[in-house]
Amino acid sequence: MIGIFGGTFDPVHYGHLRSALEVKDIFGLTEVRLIPCANPPHREQPAVTAEMRVQMLELAIKNQPDLKIDTRELDRYDLHQAPSYMVDTLESLRQEFPADPLLLFIGTDAFKYLTGWYEWQRLFDYAHIVVMTRPGIETQTLNDFFKARLTGEIKDLVQVISGKLCFSHVTQLDISATAIRNIIARKQNPGFLLPDAVIEYIKQHQLYETH
Ligand code: ATP
Repeated sequence: MIGIFGGTFDPVHYGHLRSALEVKDIFGLTEVRLIPCANPPHREQPAVTAEMRVQMLELAIKNQPDLKIDTRELDRYDLHQAPSYMVDTLESLRQEFPADPLLLFIGTDAFKYLTGWYEWQRLFDYAHIVVMTRPGIETQTLNDFFKARLTGEIKDLVQVISGKLCFSHVTQLDISATAIRNIIARKQNPGFLLPDAVIEYIKQHQLYETH
């Protein structure tokens, strides 16, 4: 089973990193792929270049062999300059891994808008979707499409390679890249919100210093 974590990683922080490791253990994944987005369709463009976001990811996961960086969205953008649709990413991962269950991890915030994603039903043709919840957060009423795919059993995600929806409690640290960018722009100290090596890189390249 392969875990997939998409994001802008502008910059990567402990909220991303801790949950990526935690789901690896909860679901017994062989690896977790962090997939930086080139041209996010649903939000404003990243503050720094794709190359720099990847370099920060490399620094962050240097000692974590279970986490991998997958640059397929950036490579695709270099060829086509089209929005980075998750359905295209999952289709290409499915071609590369025809027999492995693929688990796409998203936060509850992202799940709320999932039905607005480009060709969202097709996501389930290629992967399972796992929504990372916080204890106590109510899951919204599900539509029939989601209800038909819902499972609470990890073994159901092993038996078929795609098509299921699952909610899983993950320890979520209350950290966001937006808050980190604001802290740096205010010349405050972002220490302990993201790895020191990434903070050093940000300083060296004078990133996020203005809003
Ligand atoms: P921004 O503040 O710029 O919107 P972000 O911190 O939310 O960024 P993204 O790169 O957009 O980070 O996040 C990508 C994925 O990581 C999403 O699925 C999101 O739900 C998840 N994520 C972000 N922050 C956390 C966190 N603190 N804990 C767990 N998951 C997180």
